[in-house]
Amino acid sequence: MLPGASPDPLSTADSSIERDRRFMALAQRAAEEARRAGEVPVGAVIVLGDEIIATGFNHPIRGHDPSAHAEMAALRAAAQKLENYRLPGCELYVTLEPCLMCAGAIMHARIARVVYGAADPKTGACGSVVDMFANGQLNHHTTVTGGVLADECAHALKNFFAERRRLARDERDARRARETGRSAAADSSDHTDHTTNPTTTS
Ligand SMILES: [Zn+2]
Repeated sequence: MLPGASPDPLSTADSSIERDRRFMALAQRAAEEARRAGEVPVGAVIVLGDEIIATGFNHPIRGHDPSAHAEMAALRAAAQKLENYRLPGCELYVTLEPCLMCAGAIMHARIARVVYGAADPKTGACGSVVDMFANGQLNHHTTVTGGVLADECAHALKNFFAERRRLARDERDARRARETGRSAAADSSDHTDHTTNPTTTS
């Protein structure tokens, strides 16, 4: 840009959208870690300036910890790193709309901005179920941007749950086949000419 020229508002908007997508892609990478660990794939990163100071992924099952959401893990790591229980000026990127618990922690930490990917119609606290951040009595510090790489973030979740349903179905079918096989074996000990195909039962 030439000295004295004002910034092109369109290209400024483009570059901030690009910046949000870049950090959300890194939150998606953290979500992938959750998926590999068998947890619901949600990931978060916390950014100060242009530097990522913390990442976190969802791990309540392995951690035996109902509070181990991606945002909580990232907030804890960032607070440790900055040696401060408040994180003013920081931005939190998370692949799924924060729940009430995380929204509360985000406000306590005085996070400046939350950017989320997919909306959560079941527990979302940024407008989907309730909007904690819109309440002026509660929130004085945090602005919210939703829907960044929303489709990609939602796909990761949908694929995870589809895969989990498929595994549960396979397991159930295998169990039924074993049970049918056992009862067929018991029958054939009485009636040697009787045949049963376990795969035809459901
Ligand atoms: Zn949460």
